Amino acid sequence: MKKKAIKAIAFSFVFLLIHPAFGNDKGWLNDSLKKDLTRLHYLEMPLGSIKPKGWLLHQLQIMRDGSTGHLDEVYEKIKNDNGWLGGKGDGWEETPYWLDGAVPLAYLLDDAALKQKILRYVNWTIENQRPSGYYGPITKWESDNGKKITVKDCAMGEDWWPKMVMLKVLQQYFTATGDKRVIPFMSKYFSYQLQSLKTCPLGKWTEWAQSRGEDNILIAQWLYGITKDKYLLNLCDILQQQTFAWSDWLGGRDWVINAAAYQNDKAWMSRHGVNVGMGLKDPAVQYRQTGDKKYLEALKTGFNDLMTLHGLPHGMFSADEDLHGNSTTQGTELCAIVESMFSLEQIVSITGDIEYMDALERMTFNALPAQTTDDYNNKQYFQIANQVNIKRGVFNFSLPFGRGMNNVLGMRSGYTCCLANMHQGWTKFTSHLWYGTPGKGLAALHFSPSQIVAKVGVSNTGVTINEVTSYPFSDLIDFEISAERDVSFPFHIRIPAWCNEAIVKLNSQVFRKAKGGQVIVIDRTWKDGDKLTIQLPMEVSTSTWGSNSRTVERGPLVYALKLTEQWQKDVDENEGEYFSVCTKDAWNYGLLDSVIIHPVENVKVNVVKPVTENFVWNTTQAPIELKAWVRKIPDWKIVNDVAPQPVTSRDGLYMGKVEDERVEITLIPYGCTKVRIVAFPVVNKGTTAW
Ligand SMILES: [Zn+2]
Repeated sequence: MKKKAIKAIAFSFVFLLIHPAFGNDKGWLNDSLKKDLTRLHYLEMPLGSIKPKGWLLHQLQIMRDGSTGHLDEVYEKIKNDNGWLGGKGDGWEETPYWLDGAVPLAYLLDDAALKQKILRYVNWTIENQRPSGYYGPITKWESDNGKKITVKDCAMGEDWWPKMVMLKVLQQYFTATGDKRVIPFMSKYFSYQLQSLKTCPLGKWTEWAQSRGEDNILIAQWLYGITKDKYLLNLCDILQQQTFAWSDWLGGRDWVINAAAYQNDKAWMSRHGVNVGMGLKDPAVQYRQTGDKKYLEALKTGFNDLMTLHGLPHGMFSADEDLHGNSTTQGTELCAIVESMFSLEQIVSITGDIEYMDALERMTFNALPAQTTDDYNNKQYFQIANQVNIKRGVFNFSLPFGRGMNNVLGMRSGYTCCLANMHQGWTKFTSHLWYGTPGKGLAALHFSPSQIVAKVGVSNTGVTINEVTSYPFSDLIDFEISAERDVSFPFHIRIPAWCNEAIVKLNSQVFRKAKGGQVIVIDRTWKDGDKLTIQLPMEVSTSTWGSNSRTVERGPLVYALKLTEQWQKDVDENEGEYFSVCTKDAWNYGLLDSVIIHPVENVKVNVVKPVTENFVWNTTQAPIELKAWVRKIPDWKIVNDVAPQPVTSRDGLYMGKVEDERVEITLIPYGCTKVRIVAFPVVNKGTTAW
């Protein structure tokens, strides 16, 4: 490393290692850098530099005390003779999946016990890399013949896919620790991969590897940013050729339309919701490599098409397992949520486009918390938007498992990919609350209580910023700045599109106002003790979904009918303990059209309890309640375990029989519910006087 570069270090040493171009004084995104894949709008921060606080800290502590911290003790696939520890047991995706969330959790919480756990797998993986560069569980051929995989014998190796997840694990581990073994390990592996892909292409063992190659490319690009080894660019090109054509499909439109029409076995891997969630990052990854803006356009077209044809009020698309249209009774797989979140976190870094920041928060604060139990030990394979009961049954899923366990809450119910993969959701969201910026500043692009420690500005000054807030429940965010000395750096802050006008205060004085839908930059000399306050007024509004249904929203949260939950525990012979949830409360209501026409006037907002440091996403702790007027639709009933959306006329009104009486209902944040209605039919307000 050149002396000149060392002078220009803006962030910590680890950060410099990750992003050598960050210290370049010649400017950001200039032409000379384009070939070096430094085409990043925002930089990911090293794992551990962002710490969770408040309710988010509690969420991560729950995970540490629950399945994320203990999956290796309670889940037989990871516990017994694990392939990633040299055993003959499971050596495919589930252990790397678990580590992909457990590794960030260990460093976010600085938890010594969890670090010890994950280090066993990391160490075994690094120490048992073959001389050729191949790595992972010992293959059958190797143990039968006492040999090690070489490029010549790549066909005796195993699936590329689980190794893609392990690369993500090792990348995070490196940014947290700077462990010197990681870079040479990856270089050696990618060199092996480059030499082997001709005879052992991505699709040799499974279509999973072929459909998910962009995650492999992502890490190869990251490594290139550090080593500048030209063969990595070659490798990225070959991986791209062997990966599903996500960018063409997202930009081309036929694919997403066909996915809405067909749920057959033809090309189903291209409609598989988790694959789609992962494939979203493909155009961004290709843009990073080529600089061709057509990829950004393809992403925009594809993401909007996807959400129009398959979108649901909670911010995700249907994925049960395949894309399955916009009916509010379709399911969404938990893996599809956490993978889409990770894609958006990468897309935000590459594009800096606020649309994806807003989309990430919508998924995170609505879809994600609704699908797991308070203790993070049970999950639904598929959640349903309008979910009037959680129970065994085949439902209208594109993968109706014969045992009917896809919708219940269990540890081993449905398919266990989600049990292993769900840990990356909250952890990586925490790691992506903040990013580094051009000009050696910081960006608060997604909000939650947190703290960031970084070195900023040309003077390389250490700062700590405490983000004090109850967001997404509160509209106020305080950024409390501690600095070693006065320091000039740009501070980027997202103003969400749902906010009409934000008020920015500096040390309690109004500093400026800003329209929603942009990232503002405050570039000034910051002093120790400065406090920047952002107020993002949250107005009630409604949005339109499948079959002219309507959802009540406020800020980043969507609201659902609060129902009394009745939980029942059962045991399935094959899939273990599980919970069903039902309600005796009436749920078959239509929102009055007056609520749709004038939501601000006709929906009352009540802050009912503070968001404490013991907050859990459930009905009893919901901090905000909305009150709205409805009338009952007596013919809206459960059919095949779901509540099919009533038919409306073109103007969106339900035309069937509606009870005269107006009823006031309570809506709570969707993420706090297990059974609910979130997409309501609309009824005439009736003739009775208010
Ligand atoms: Zn899954």
